[in-house]
Amino acid sequence: MTQIRDIGGGPRVLLKRLREFTAAALEPQERLDRIVREIARNMVAEVCSLYVLRADSMLELYATEGLNPGSVHLAQLRLGQGLVGTIAASARPLNLTDAQHHPAFAYLPETGEEIYHSFLGVPVLRAGRTLGVLVVQNKTMRTYQDDEIEALETTAMVIAEMIATGDLARLSRPGIELDLGRPVSFDGMALSEGVGLGHVVLHEPRVVVKDLFAEDGEAESARLNEALGSLRLSIDDMLSRRDVAFEGEHRAVLEAYRMFANDRGWVRRIEEAISNGLTAEAAVEKVQSDMRARMMHMTDPYLRERMSDFDDLGNRLLRQLMGRGPETLAETLPKDSIIVARSMGAAELLDYPRNRLRGLVLEDGAPTSHVVIVARAIGIAVAGQAKGAVSMSENGDAIIIDGDDGQVHLRPAPDVEAAYAEKARFRARKQQLYRELREKPSVSADGVKVDLMMNAGLAVDLPQLADSGAAGIGLFRTELQFMVAARFPRAEEQEQLYREVLQAAGDKPVTFRTIDIGGDKVLPYFKEAVHEENPALGWRAIRLTLDKPTLLRTQIRALLKAAGGRELRIMLPMVTEISEIRKTRAIIDREVQHLSRFAHLLPTRIKLGAMIEVPSLMWQLNELMRAVDFVSVGSNDLFQFVTASDRGNTRLSKRFNPISVPFLRVLKQIADAGFANDTPVTLCGELAGRPLSAMALFGIGYRSISMAPAAIGPVKAMLRELPVGALVDHMKKAMNGMGAEDDMAAMLKKFAADHGIELDR
Ligand code: PEP
Ligand code: MG
Repeated sequence: MTQIRDIGGGPRVLLKRLREFTAAALEPQERLDRIVREIARNMVAEVCSLYVLRADSMLELYATEGLNPGSVHLAQLRLGQGLVGTIAASARPLNLTDAQHHPAFAYLPETGEEIYHSFLGVPVLRAGRTLGVLVVQNKTMRTYQDDEIEALETTAMVIAEMIATGDLARLSRPGIELDLGRPVSFDGMALSEGVGLGHVVLHEPRVVVKDLFAEDGEAESARLNEALGSLRLSIDDMLSRRDVAFEGEHRAVLEAYRMFANDRGWVRRIEEAISNGLTAEAAVEKVQSDMRARMMHMTDPYLRERMSDFDDLGNRLLRQLMGRGPETLAETLPKDSIIVARSMGAAELLDYPRNRLRGLVLEDGAPTSHVVIVARAIGIAVAGQAKGAVSMSENGDAIIIDGDDGQVHLRPAPDVEAAYAEKARFRARKQQLYRELREKPSVSADGVKVDLMMNAGLAVDLPQLADSGAAGIGLFRTELQFMVAARFPRAEEQEQLYREVLQAAGDKPVTFRTIDIGGDKVLPYFKEAVHEENPALGWRAIRLTLDKPTLLRTQIRALLKAAGGRELRIMLPMVTEISEIRKTRAIIDREVQHLSRFAHLLPTRIKLGAMIEVPSLMWQLNELMRAVDFVSVGSNDLFQFVTASDRGNTRLSKRFNPISVPFLRVLKQIADAGFANDTPVTLCGELAGRPLSAMALFGIGYRSISMAPAAIGPVKAMLRELPVGALVDHMKKAMNGMGAEDDMAAMLKKFAADHGIELDR
């Protein structure tokens, strides 16, 4: 066998010849013809054929040595059909001594194929995608050796570059597109609403390897070893840093990287590719591409995750080899950028200029992940769980994201694009309408004034105060500053943020909620937070901060200082009993005394409120109302605890209805108790932000609600058409007459329809 290969010249000679062909001024077809001829000669094969995958999932014969030349661009196989189709569909090589007896064998008469027994086919891969299939065949029954498979794969990589650079697209018949431009859709998870049409910006742009061929294999091996050494050192260095940001999950990922960076199998595969004549970076890319292809066919989530770690490691190694640090396109970002990333930190998203972002597509991403919270705050559409989006995308590809249902369309077909362009225009028209409403008073059709406030949590939210026309900030989630940081924010940093918020609010009221951590809001650097069986019912929010009074005192002092000379509103999350309010008030009093001793300017007035999120408060409403200056219903948590259904569990998310008679009775009882005790009541959960549920709230007596800034326009538009007095009467009668199972939502929709109120905004 060695002898036969020596006749052909071996893989290094083959690669050298390929390099001459790619450098020569040849027409693409001529170049391909010479390549297949050279491969056949080099591998002492009677046949060498290249099939290219088209957008219609057909594999078209693009060049052949040994089969009927007249069948080029005519012979074709479906993806999955025959041996070639099987290779393309599985993205794995097939090495057969007797191909004709393989169950997938299909005979194409137009190729004039004779009896060729042995068959070796490899997928043409780029970034893990199959772009075609390269085949050699022999009449004799021979077994191709591992190094021949490796050589054919390396050649296939060169051809993949030719396809990717558009060289071969010129050979296709009019109206036929290659698979590289095929539309792909991802059925992701809706994480932040909105529709974005734009172009892909890969968060971690793929390093483009330009130099594929190497003269000096030893020099390339040395380069690889040096880069591997630096890579291992940099990982060790990150691990040895006692930096809090690398604790917990981050640490586990790095430990895995360290293990992989020393993985012999991985390094050996790269070395093999170098020994076949590739540069070190092309060799890394080749191995990475094979891995990606395998990853796409893997169903085991654990293995997929491990493969992705290798993928990340490959990227790092490429950057080492090409002497580049991690880069982003932040400076040269296109105007309609849709960022595509595997995962991303919240701070990284904020590095992009906001006015150029149209959306964010994540392969990971959950509703409560920090980056999603930030994306929602800055008002961009997000789709998560779009598996494979990174490897299928190229920088600059057209892409559409629908944050309302989680759909992502990569390289969309014209009709899909037209439909979404219409949807985006429709949304823009509505946004314009809401902007026009911004300065209009938030009063109902019959003159009832309602305060429409917004929820916020980061400095990036502040411009929305003016943009949305909110009456103030009804809920400032102070924990978000803690969640996006790598360590506990210092007292001065907290004070600085609170000052900025109050300054931006001007005369408008702001209600700061003390840190609500624990539950699903974890801080990686908070070492005392132990794993809990039921974190939502655990050591969280006011329970935690009362046990860690330094945390609470620091925050209260920062708030008192920031609000010097004006009213300060402080709200406590997850209150369960009234003693928690008393204890907090004592801490506030002590801090006030402390600051006045040092002659600090104090707030003119301090109002202390409680969130109603824990059902136990329902049986002490009068005492509660008398113990505070205001209350705010956290309907997200209250509903989850009343119905015993985890708010983050997607299986349950549509099961129980918050605008059902029983839950509205709960909410009405709170509103009535507030009225009776002269204690202002507001509601700041997601219920406030949907026109239908907001309408229900007005109908049971709520006159102040707080919601995401984007919801204010639609709710205000509804309010201004709503006869609140008539609705209150109607709901009173309905609530008295209705049973627990009656359909309140349908009743409200009918009321809206009868009064010409548009709810579906
Ligand atoms: C709520 O529980 O309704 C609420 C507003 O608080 P969060 O969503 O921050 O838990
Ligand atoms: Mg809550």
